Amino acid sequence: MTVREILQIGHPALRRPAREVAPGELASGAVQELIDDLIDTMRHARGAGLAATQVGEDLRIAVMEVEANERYPYKPPLPLTVAVNPVVEINPQSPTFMVNEGCLSVPLRGDVRRHMDITVTYLDRHGEPLTGRVTGLTAGTWQHEVDHLDGILFTDRVEDPTTLATWDEFSRHHRQEFIDRLRAGGLAPAPE
Ligand code: ZN
Repeated sequence: MTVREILQIGHPALRRPAREVAPGELASGAVQELIDDLIDTMRHARGAGLAATQVGEDLRIAVMEVEANERYPYKPPLPLTVAVNPVVEINPQSPTFMVNEGCLSVPLRGDVRRHMDITVTYLDRHGEPLTGRVTGLTAGTWQHEVDHLDGILFTDRVEDPTTLATWDEFSRHHRQEFIDRLRAGGLAPAPE
C-alpha cells in the first residue's frame, strides 16, 4: 500500500490510451498492488476518482469513491468502486448537464458537458463481470475516469475556457452558482 505520485497535466503518460487488463493478469500481485495503491493515493489526495494512467500505469483500471467529502459536499455518495476494463455506454435520451469538474492531475476546475444516464460494464478487482445503470453526477465521474484511460483530460472537453478557475477562485466566485445549478437540475438537495 503506497501513495503514488499523481502525474500532472503536461506529462505525456496522461495522453497515452491505456491497454486492457488481460484475463489472468488481474489476479497477479503486481496488478492487485496497483489497485491498492490507486485506492490509497485517491484517498490521500481526497479525490473522487483516480485512473491508472494518472500514476503512469498503462492499464485500464480506475477507482472511484465519494464519502462525505468536504471537497465535494454536493456529490452523491459512491461506495468504493474498482473498475477494470470499464466501458461506458450512453443510454437513449440521456440528458446532459454542464458539470463543473476538477481533476487530481489538473490545478484548475472547469465546466464540462456530461451525460447523466449511462450503462457501465466492467470487471471488479476479483474479475467478476458487472454491469449497471448510473445516473446523475456519478455518471459524470465514470465518464471522467474512462476518459483518462483513453488519454483524455477534462480540459479537452471544456467548451467555454472562461469557466476555468483555480480551486480557490472557484470557491470564492463560482461554487455557489454551481450548487444552485445542480439544485435547479435536481442533482443536489435543496437547502434546509
Ligand atoms: Zn481526473
